[in-house]
Amino acid sequence: MSLLAPLVAGFDIGGTNVRGVLVDRAGHLVGADRLPRPHEPDGIVDSVVTLVARMGTDAGADAHAVGVGCAGTVDRRGVVRASPNIPTLIEFPLADTLSKRLAMPVIVDNDATTATWAEVKTGAARGIRDVVFVALGTGIGVGIVLDGELRRGAQGFAGEAGHMVISPEGPECVCGRRGCWEVFASGRALGRLTQDAAREHRVPAIVEIAGGVIDDIRGEHVSELVAEGHPEALMMLDELGWWVGLGLTNLVNVLDVSTAVIGGGLSEIGRPLIAAIRVGYNSLMHDSDHRPPLNIVGALHGGRAGAIGAALLAADELHQPSRI
Ligand SMILES: [Zn+2]
Repeated sequence: MSLLAPLVAGFDIGGTNVRGVLVDRAGHLVGADRLPRPHEPDGIVDSVVTLVARMGTDAGADAHAVGVGCAGTVDRRGVVRASPNIPTLIEFPLADTLSKRLAMPVIVDNDATTATWAEVKTGAARGIRDVVFVALGTGIGVGIVLDGELRRGAQGFAGEAGHMVISPEGPECVCGRRGCWEVFASGRALGRLTQDAAREHRVPAIVEIAGGVIDDIRGEHVSELVAEGHPEALMMLDELGWWVGLGLTNLVNVLDVSTAVIGGGLSEIGRPLIAAIRVGYNSLMHDSDHRPPLNIVGALHGGRAGAIGAALLAADELHQPSRI
């Protein structure tokens, strides 16, 4: 493979790791590396600088720009304004600090936003102009592409659809309100929904696998059983798919996208999850007679989407605006 220079580096700063990728101008993956995420901002900066150097040495060519996807709300100056997973980064001038240390352009954006760009540019929604990306992880992150352009909103905070309230009397969310979408439809929610089912004696096998303690049931207990086609796990997946589908109907009513890409850790379940979401969505969308069906697909880039998309956004900054 001949590389299309210049190379760009992309990073995903998450709760556990700093993941890096090196890609060429066409989005080909040239290298990948990672380090455990330090607690303090200075350590996070050091990790990114180290990984840029290490990936450049391994590839025999250096990056000319860096993009960073970060868990949390990130404003248009590249400053993290809120982040339950990485509170030490709040108000830290990450883009400016990295740019000075590396002496190259650096952009910082929300991790779901960067992952969205990866899926639209080189992934499951390549070339599609109206897309929502929905990352089902601990919470829910959403990215929006309309008319071929990433939509960030006035502050850069667009896409916080995980905190769209769908049941005002529902369980409390990490944001302090009740009944947010991510309380019902995230990876953590799969565990909570299954605990509720266990209290109603609907999932005895899952309770047994969790060691007989209902409060210990996690989404992973369900996702592992889905691979075996276990009926209790498939039932819980159907329930989750209904809640994911409910949120998608709201997003489609507001945004009129043609495609929803499902990513995040939970998407590793694969086809059974996508099938359950399709069933849920189709049962809830009210005007399907006159509206073409929503294209619901699994993400292509998996856990690397955030870093790859960050690199592609940095490449766009060098060459052209962020549009397809
Ligand atoms: Zn919330």
